[in-house]
Amino acid sequence: MISGDSIVALSSGRLPAGVAVIRISGPKSRFVIEMIAGTMVKNRVAAYRKFKAPDGSVLDRGVVVFFAGPNSFTGEDIAEFHVHGGRAVVARMLETIAGFDGVRHAEPGEFTRRAFLNGKVDLIETEALADLVNAETEAQRRFAVQNAEGVQSELYLSWRRRLIHARAMIEAEIDFAEEDDVPGSVAETVWADVRAMIGEIERHVGGFRAAEIIRDGFEVVILGAPNAGKSSLFNALARREAAIVTEEPGTTRDLLEVVLNLEGMRVRVTDTAGLRATPGRIEAIGIERARSKAGTADLLLVLEDMVDPVPIGAIPADIPALKIGTKVDLLQDRSSAPAARYDAAISTKDGTGLAKLLAEIGHRAAAQIGQAGDILPSRLRHVELLNETKRFLRAAVTEDERGQELRAEELRLAADRLGRIVGAVDVEDMLDVIFAQFCIGK
Ligand code: GDP
Repeated sequence: MISGDSIVALSSGRLPAGVAVIRISGPKSRFVIEMIAGTMVKNRVAAYRKFKAPDGSVLDRGVVVFFAGPNSFTGEDIAEFHVHGGRAVVARMLETIAGFDGVRHAEPGEFTRRAFLNGKVDLIETEALADLVNAETEAQRRFAVQNAEGVQSELYLSWRRRLIHARAMIEAEIDFAEEDDVPGSVAETVWADVRAMIGEIERHVGGFRAAEIIRDGFEVVILGAPNAGKSSLFNALARREAAIVTEEPGTTRDLLEVVLNLEGMRVRVTDTAGLRATPGRIEAIGIERARSKAGTADLLLVLEDMVDPVPIGAIPADIPALKIGTKVDLLQDRSSAPAARYDAAISTKDGTGLAKLLAEIGHRAAAQIGQAGDILPSRLRHVELLNETKRFLRAAVTEDERGQELRAEELRLAADRLGRIVGAVDVEDMLDVIFAQFCIGK
């Protein structure tokens, strides 16, 4: 599909910058090069030129590259102008180029959308490109780059091929059944394979939490009685500049969150209101929020003042927890510290135990993420369609009075759901949602 209009946008990052890349896609790309750079340039050869506006005034001097479609990112003709990354330079270039007939500013994600519509990338690869652009940690980058290369798509397409094959086998058996010359065991082998696939899909879907942790972060929640040293630990973690990605205010007054980049993994640490057995009414609300946040955490840090321990009541039993003794510096004789009662002993005053604690959190996050290279469903959208696939497969392997033909129809529906994940079957309705995740120029 070749679009009628051409689009232009700044495709590189925040200005000012050393170099800015302005990209045009569509049939006017050649024309724009001729107008701005004077004459057309060779395909895929960078040329250093003076860039001029139609009135002859010099815009900048820089490099221009032409990629003839269909061998380009979008599948259309693409022109790239590499100019000095000043705000005024870029503004004038964009204004000049978008001023040509048939050229307009691009919508967010429109370049990638054209790439998808021209069959250059499938839907999962498209989503992975968005993830790659947004990747802040090494784990996110590794995961996104693997999916952008089509690893995840290939898994779904291989399942889909198996189902198409299975359905063909069942239908062949139905057709030839009257002739009595097809061994009846074909169907059995096919249904056994479909049952195996249900298990494979289930295991794959089970990896979604790991994908969520890679994307959104491993959730660590700090709990403890008032004065246990929660805020001090939170602040100590937040002050470790090397570790900080961003510091985001919490969603409520009582919850503060900091996002760390621990050994290449995104880790969100939340500080909560102090837990105590008999709180006042206002305080009770904070405690309720703390408990509910704790209920969805990946790891709890349960703090207790080693000198003056205060009981905090029940904590969620099914969430992994590290029991942490605080204020170890206050203990007279550290060797007699009741260390055995704690998984770690820390002091935010002198820094004891903090590096070890961070390493332990990083270790736990890595264990949850699983093996690098595992193929995981990277979006809830994938999980939902995989669950639908599974439902159709379950229906297909259920033996009842329906007969083979109707059961084979369930295989078709299942294969269709797999196709929708990758975008191999009609997905028009999903495109706006998916491309809205992109920034302009991508
Ligand atoms: P929170 O109520 O659990 O958030 O506790 P805070 O972090 O506000 O700490 C309560 C009190 O304990 C404050 O006076 C801190 O200065 C003190 N404190 C916290 N951590 C330490 C520590 O490691 N050593 C010492 N000596 N005092 C600490």
